[in-house]
Amino acid sequence: MSEGADVVIVGGGLMGCSTAVHCAAAGLSVIVLERFHVARHASGANAGGVRRLMRHPAEIPLSLAAMEKWHRIAELVDDDCGFAVSGQVLVAETEAEMETIRKRHAEVSALGYDYEELIDAEELYRLVPALVPGCVGGLVCRDDGFADPFRTSTAFRRKAEALGVDIREGSTVTDFYRKDGYWRVETEAGFFDAHKVVNCAGSWAHRFAERLGEPVPLEPFAPMMMVTARMPAFVDPVVLSVGRSLSFKQSAVGTVLIGGGHPGRPDMQTGASAIDFAELGISARTVLDLFPVMRSATLVRAWAGIEGKMPDGIPVIGPSTTEEGLFHAFGFCGHGFQISPIVGRIMSELVMSAEVSLPISPFAIDRF
Ligand SMILES: Cc1cc2nc3c(=O)[nH]c(=O)nc-3n(C[C@H](O)[C@H](O)[C@H](O)COP(=O)(O)OP(=O)(O)OC[C@H]3O[C@@H](n4cnc5c(N)ncnc54)[C@H](O)[C@@H]3O)c2cc1C
Repeated sequence: MSEGADVVIVGGGLMGCSTAVHCAAAGLSVIVLERFHVARHASGANAGGVRRLMRHPAEIPLSLAAMEKWHRIAELVDDDCGFAVSGQVLVAETEAEMETIRKRHAEVSALGYDYEELIDAEELYRLVPALVPGCVGGLVCRDDGFADPFRTSTAFRRKAEALGVDIREGSTVTDFYRKDGYWRVETEAGFFDAHKVVNCAGSWAHRFAERLGEPVPLEPFAPMMMVTARMPAFVDPVVLSVGRSLSFKQSAVGTVLIGGGHPGRPDMQTGASAIDFAELGISARTVLDLFPVMRSATLVRAWAGIEGKMPDGIPVIGPSTTEEGLFHAFGFCGHGFQISPIVGRIMSELVMSAEVSLPISPFAIDRF
């Protein structure tokens, strides 16, 4: 016996759940098939950064549209997702790094955007007084911020379910293919039929694409995170660095979350990921260099999450070029959390054969 829906979504991360919310809100019946549990991978392991700062030019329209949604996220999922406007600041430690920032600022301004602001050392230290002395300036997005990944994915999941979406956890999709004019999606426990399929399988999504004749050079990687015990409040904005891999923020309860992309080791077979302590040491050294107050920090936990990296640093978002009724959204390169509310909308527009409201041609699957 098969079960069926208008749309079957493969993968219950934020992209799958956001797509489900938008499709269900438009009146479609939706089944989400998730191998483990909702947000088991990148969507539950991430740093929660809600950042327009330093977006790839192709992503800027999506990022700006997503930011509007973040500022009213409760209207979409009935929860504020822990979203807080803290600002995000990119720090230049040297004059050469400041020059890199100036070039970036000029490029983005030439495209007609004014959401990134160049700041001098005085404003930098006003925003981030705990920063080590000697930095020369920065780039800031004052309306950026961060949210709680667990609350966010839970909110998207609950909203999807409230709209009637059938979320099947522990359902590994083994294959999907066209059959008599519709899609058949096979799992280890049975199969599902649908008019449309959306491939949101994260760092595993390229395997399905490749099997359907659309090979993409996605490389799975496992960026690591660390979190400290509570500390007295000392930093408001999220801090990034031009010259080092860093994403640094203090939560409302005082814990400090440290990321930046230092890689652990993913096991794509089991979905587990292991810490690389040498790499973690580099991340810790960066933080000690930039924030002297961190010398008294106690590290509580470290983890790694699996994410898909593309050679050009931007995801695949769009229709299949080989199969009718199949759509892809994967390979978010470590910064998909912020754009997840808008990616879901785009995928629902594609599924409904509606006009896509934002430019997605740079994300075409056949660009490689
Ligand atoms: C450590 C870390 C920090 C990050 N920090 C930020 C940040 O600060 N800001 C930001 O914007 N982004 C950040 N990101 C990126 C962001 O988390 C991801 O881009 C985003 O969550 C991707 O969502 P997704 O739904 O595509 O992938 P995932 O969350 O990985 O979801 C894909 C799902 O598909 C499922 N799946 C795979 N194969 C199958 C199958 N065969 N059958 C059924 N289900 C399957 C998986 O189990 C998984 O749950 C970070 C990522 C990591 C790892």
